[in-house]
Amino acid sequence: MAKDFSLIDIGANLTHDQLLKNIHAVIDNFKKVHVENVIITSSNTTDTEKALSLIKKFPNLFYTTVGFHPHNAKNFKEKDLESIETLANNPHVISIGECGLDYYREYSPKNQQIVCFEKQLSLNTKLNLPLFLHERGAHNDFCSLLKKYIDRIDNTVVHCFTGTKQELLQYLDMGCYIGITGWITDMERGSHLHEIIQYIPEDRLLVETDSPYLIPKNMNDNRKTTNEPAYLPYVVEEIANCLNKDVKYISNKTFENTKKFFQI
Ligand SMILES: [Zn+2]
Repeated sequence: MAKDFSLIDIGANLTHDQLLKNIHAVIDNFKKVHVENVIITSSNTTDTEKALSLIKKFPNLFYTTVGFHPHNAKNFKEKDLESIETLANNPHVISIGECGLDYYREYSPKNQQIVCFEKQLSLNTKLNLPLFLHERGAHNDFCSLLKKYIDRIDNTVVHCFTGTKQELLQYLDMGCYIGITGWITDMERGSHLHEIIQYIPEDRLLVETDSPYLIPKNMNDNRKTTNEPAYLPYVVEEIANCLNKDVKYISNKTFENTKKFFQI
């Protein structure tokens, strides 16, 4: 049967135990719903190594990122930049990240987060790989750092965007792509996204599950608690409803955007 739409999950934490231990089922499930590829989010270099051993077994399904999440900034050392650079040479490592600032959880001290983020920005002016960015509760500091480097980096995505309209417009102004997760299906925390998603130009919209976290609320199935790439269509459905567009249209549009953004 010919497929008339395809999807790519730009962010899934597949090296997380909950997903890794069931990887065969996870793969079967997402293949059934037209998810062709998954970009495995890495939060430190160990994650990237784990992701690469998975990719060895399934080279046509997966890609990954390399970088230090702000939560891991406290463990970041100068020599990690060399490992990032070496791992970035692997053709399946297609992005630097996830990196950025998270003052909401603040698992690492702010000053260490800033250093860790800035070192990766600076390194990527040399590598110029697409940048996979994480920002929570840190918009102002995040923007001032990003502004210093963004002219020398072609593609950036603010993944799992959950912020305000004003924050969104600033990211768009800087040329960022925007990653939307199941947050948009959460009526308690994400209903503001229903209105502001219309400001994202269609060619800058990307979709992701951020699994195993953020299970879509529009699945209406309380028995399931672990998110996985197979649930990406629920995110797309919510976006399509908000924008009054066809689900297949949004699927194919975000698929094209992803191919172009990551050059895959
Ligand atoms: Zn993140």
